[in-house]
Amino acid sequence: MATKKIEIVVPPREPHFVGDGFRVHNFIPSAYRLDMKKMDPFILMDYNSKFHFTPSDKPRGVGVHPHRGFETVTIAYKGKVAHHDSSGGGGIIGEGDVQWMTAASGVLHKEYHEENFSKEGGDFQMVQLWVNLPAKDKMTKPKYQSISNAQINRFTLPDNGGEIEVIAGSYQDVKGAASTFTPIHLQNARLNKGGKAAFNFPANYTTALLVIEGSIKVNGEENVPTDNFVSFENEGEEFTIEALEDAVVLVLSGEPINEPIAAQGPFVMNTEGEITQAINDYNMGRFGYLE
Ligand code: MN
Repeated sequence: MATKKIEIVVPPREPHFVGDGFRVHNFIPSAYRLDMKKMDPFILMDYNSKFHFTPSDKPRGVGVHPHRGFETVTIAYKGKVAHHDSSGGGGIIGEGDVQWMTAASGVLHKEYHEENFSKEGGDFQMVQLWVNLPAKDKMTKPKYQSISNAQINRFTLPDNGGEIEVIAGSYQDVKGAASTFTPIHLQNARLNKGGKAAFNFPANYTTALLVIEGSIKVNGEENVPTDNFVSFENEGEEFTIEALEDAVVLVLSGEPINEPIAAQGPFVMNTEGEITQAINDYNMGRFGYLE
């Protein structure tokens, strides 16, 4: 088993606001070299690093907007988000929960801080990851997988090292609850100081990690601090992480879809014609209606 080496460590870029509720650092596709093609099947990663929001009677967030052609995965570390969509669906993503939304043929939704969280204020920390869909699945029916923290399967590391929360894919013999259209591994390593974990993914998969809390040493040689993103080489299969202090690390690995990408804002399709169609469908109200 060959070692999978770090290709690049990316510190967080200057944050920007999405609406008034999400203060994010974009890693995919705008950070150095991490474009949609390179990071295939991951097409966007926005990271709201830990940020304190003051109390507000009016929930902050982002208003009605569409998505088509991919999935949005929201991983909540601190704070709570409420969402509503044009099909009448909605829910709350709480601390430790994951929402895996398949936008596919089209969803119109809004995402706001949950009402009580908003009133009280507090630390807010989240990842939103967009996972591309293969052409054959881009126009399938939208769906949600709401995965509460209690539903996330866990692998307990030896020597009181901590645990691996398996959201999608597998770690050793533990399988994640999320179903995916293409092979994806998505996991949170929650490590105690000194805890170690080894990961093993096919060499050709796009593999990366984001340090959410604490700091880690990768492959026994490179220290990576909080809020830094690591992209690995597409060679070798195995890498290790060790917690230099208590740490939380989001690990992602996915098989590239290897299809053409045409992207414009909230629409990610295969051709420019399909983008034009998406914009027309949106303007014609074919994504439904939401106040
Ligand atoms: Mn959205």
